[in-house]
Amino acid sequence: MNLIEAVKAAGIVGAGGAGFPTHVKLNAKAEWFIVNAAECEPLIETDKYLCRTYADRIIVAATAVAAHLGAKHTVIALKRKYEPEIQALQAAIDKAGAEIKLFPMETFYPAGDEQTMVQLVTGKTVPERGLPLDVGAVVDNVGTLLNIYGALTEGAGVSSKFLSVTGEVREPIVLHVPIGTKITECIEAAAPKISDYAVILGGPMMGKVVVDRDAIKAAVVTKTTGNLLVLPRDHYLIARSQRKIERIAAQARASCIQCRMCTDLCPRYLIGHSIRPNLVMRNLYREQFIEDNDEYLKAFGDAANCCSCGVCEMFACPMGLSPRKVNEHIKVRLRERGIQVPRNMECTARGDINLHRIPTGRLVTRLGLAEYYGLHAHECRELEPESVFVPFSQHIGKPAVPVKAVGDSVEAGELLAAAAEGGLSANIHASITGVITEITPAGAAIARRKEG
Ligand code: SF4
Ligand code: SF4
Repeated sequence: MNLIEAVKAAGIVGAGGAGFPTHVKLNAKAEWFIVNAAECEPLIETDKYLCRTYADRIIVAATAVAAHLGAKHTVIALKRKYEPEIQALQAAIDKAGAEIKLFPMETFYPAGDEQTMVQLVTGKTVPERGLPLDVGAVVDNVGTLLNIYGALTEGAGVSSKFLSVTGEVREPIVLHVPIGTKITECIEAAAPKISDYAVILGGPMMGKVVVDRDAIKAAVVTKTTGNLLVLPRDHYLIARSQRKIERIAAQARASCIQCRMCTDLCPRYLIGHSIRPNLVMRNLYREQFIEDNDEYLKAFGDAANCCSCGVCEMFACPMGLSPRKVNEHIKVRLRERGIQVPRNMECTARGDINLHRIPTGRLVTRLGLAEYYGLHAHECRELEPESVFVPFSQHIGKPAVPVKAVGDSVEAGELLAAAAEGGLSANIHASITGVITEITPAGAAIARRKEG
């Protein structure tokens, strides 16, 4: 079995949050192979733990992927301040005699954004709405590489996940859990300091906010869950996430002072893309009245290049406005109107890019998270839940198709649902050994088999 077949069989998808099927991404040749270990958002501990603990495996997998891609340059990009992780990776590189370089980055947001990272490492800007491969680069997260190691050495399917639990917990912790474990079990394992909490699945800037009690109880760990941020329900970030677009738009129309800070600090603007959120905000007052699509494109086309990083609304805007949410709203409107926004394929970074990086320390203060910043996870706990619910869609593309039925016994790692034919999809594996108790369009419930 070659590397692509092994990765496909294992159901590996981008572990850093996107969930793009890795066998599709790696079906290429590239000059650069970049391993992303920069932990894009603040307060996430997972990638650091993986680098410290599994450096040898990461280097083995990176070497195999780089050889497959025919890469001339293989780098692992991570923050300069990750000293123990840098030591562990360098020792593993030296031990293996691997031709891999470490690429230390400053502590800014969004250092781990794929396009920001590619620009920093290669000096080239990925085209608007393009892929790193457009400039000869492939980027994989360290968690993805660890799964590739498992696929190449043991033929293992992805059935477990490392994730950190941070925020209002006794101390940050890393957990290793079967896919489909309830997030409430993960949070309990981290000893929450409050009972009435909301959760952000992922990081504070781009994670999914879950407030509703039933939704929290129903949420499970998937292949892309890297962190659970536990916060009081009245925390600024939670309250802000609940604002409706009507109110956001009304505030934008009334209060935008056209200071341009949202544009000047926008990471996509800085790498040279056509995106000026201040202009979208300025035109918002006439959004409903523009009938001509060419005029709409001129006024709002920039929104298509927004990656929803949140810099504009969480850091830049002095008026507390939300250009990100407005852009998300406009993107829907562009689709509804059938407007194709042209792409600039020849972008170059702006000369002042390094002057406009946002220090993570200042960002967390702005987010009201300073009390959690600087706390680190020192241990990793294994959880063995009595039951799991394994979703069939944990990736970009079509849901996988179940190959088992209610009442079937399954072993951990056994194929549970096969990648759908004809398009992007990924295999899904059972994450515990037991009996399937329920299958719904969304996934399969498995009850652990009692020993003895
Ligand atoms: S969310 Fe704001 S800062 Fe980020 S890409 Fe979109 S417009 Fe730029
Ligand atoms: S930063 Fe805020 S006030 Fe300034 S132009 Fe952007 S949206 Fe308007």
